[in-house]
Amino acid sequence: MSKFNLPYNQAVSQDKKTFYKNARIIDAASGYDKVGELLTIGDKIADFGQNLNAPTDAEIIDCSGNVLTAGLIDIQVHFRDPGQTHKEDLESGSRSAVVGGITTVVCQPNTAPTLDSTLTFDYLRLKAKEVAHCNIKAYGCITKAMKGEELTDMNALIGAGAVGFTDDGLPVMNANVMRRAFESSKNLGVVIAQHAEDLNLSNKGCINEGRASLELGVRGIPNISESVIVERDLAILEAIGGRYHLLHCSTKEAMDAIKRAKAKGLQATAEVSPHHFMLTDAAVLKSGTNAKMNPPLRSEEDRLALIEGLRTGLIDAIATDHAPHDLASKNKTLEEAAFGIVGVETMLPLSLTLYHQGILSLIDLLAKMTCNAARIINFDGGVLAKGARADLVVIDLNHEWIIECEKFQSKSKNSPFEGFKVKGRAVRTVVAGKTVFEV
Ligand SMILES: [Zn+2]
Repeated sequence: MSKFNLPYNQAVSQDKKTFYKNARIIDAASGYDKVGELLTIGDKIADFGQNLNAPTDAEIIDCSGNVLTAGLIDIQVHFRDPGQTHKEDLESGSRSAVVGGITTVVCQPNTAPTLDSTLTFDYLRLKAKEVAHCNIKAYGCITKAMKGEELTDMNALIGAGAVGFTDDGLPVMNANVMRRAFESSKNLGVVIAQHAEDLNLSNKGCINEGRASLELGVRGIPNISESVIVERDLAILEAIGGRYHLLHCSTKEAMDAIKRAKAKGLQATAEVSPHHFMLTDAAVLKSGTNAKMNPPLRSEEDRLALIEGLRTGLIDAIATDHAPHDLASKNKTLEEAAFGIVGVETMLPLSLTLYHQGILSLIDLLAKMTCNAARIINFDGGVLAKGARADLVVIDLNHEWIIECEKFQSKSKNSPFEGFKVKGRAVRTVVAGKTVFEV
């Protein structure tokens, strides 16, 4: 039986000591990888290394055979709060996250109302304080009500907690608006994150334009709907400056664009979602609307390009685009069903496939879900260091299990990974020095 110890923000006392022993301690940020001990006092890491002695008043946690690393950071989730809390809310979403070893999430601002005002940020902060099981962060909207027209007051939103800006769910189609967003990005030192999709090119398509769309006789979304926006954004970035982050990259062409931008030294980063490197559009034939998301699952060629991007470091981060939907939103035709799948409980095991297959080292893989992700949002988490926040995860790399969506903590069960055999899971998740979840 899994145990929850919630909510985390009933803080541990500042003299509470916890001593993790026999752990393979990995800090992806520094490359540290040794079996040893780690001590937390209160909500901070006090020390870690080899041959440390446990204080007599410490709680001892034996991590034999397991990895101990910084808690995972998922920089793209939709917790539907406020607005669609029958699909997810901050409580269920964060409970789902900590099962996946995630200690910090970044909510996307396409809620109802959108996160375009300090008022909605106040709501988020106050509710998170009451019910959340992990750290809740959020992007602010680039434009008011995500209409793509008028910039939000980014300075005020940063003051209210915004870690960057995006209109995710929708692209910023107007290039001049994007230009002004980059001007703000340059002045304020925050990232502009794009859902790259030319709406005219995607033309109300519902899955990838390719074999599956032909076979099913439905309208497809071509690769160029992503890449033309990425190419345009990078051209504006080069002219104006600022920082750009490509959300859920799905195509080889977008990867190539990011590669050229990085070679020029532009401040561009990219993330990929597990479903895009695990599956192709063939999954739609099997899983139907539970394999419908935006951007869509692409071809094998794209999938392999994303894996190569992860391997070479072109892709900085892995993020889930956790997009819960109720049954009614998915029990529809492919054309009419909602886009999106849940992901926070499967990010770690699916990503570990890359490690088990020898494609990525464990350190490089963990970096994409810890320190690299943190850097994109100017967050000081994702590292193990003396004095750093005690957000931790203990990972059993070798536990084999089968994904059963009904068992998800999320309010929603929409996932194409039902029945997938995976290897590895979080066995203990620690937020601010307190175990919030253990197997
Ligand atoms: Zn998106």
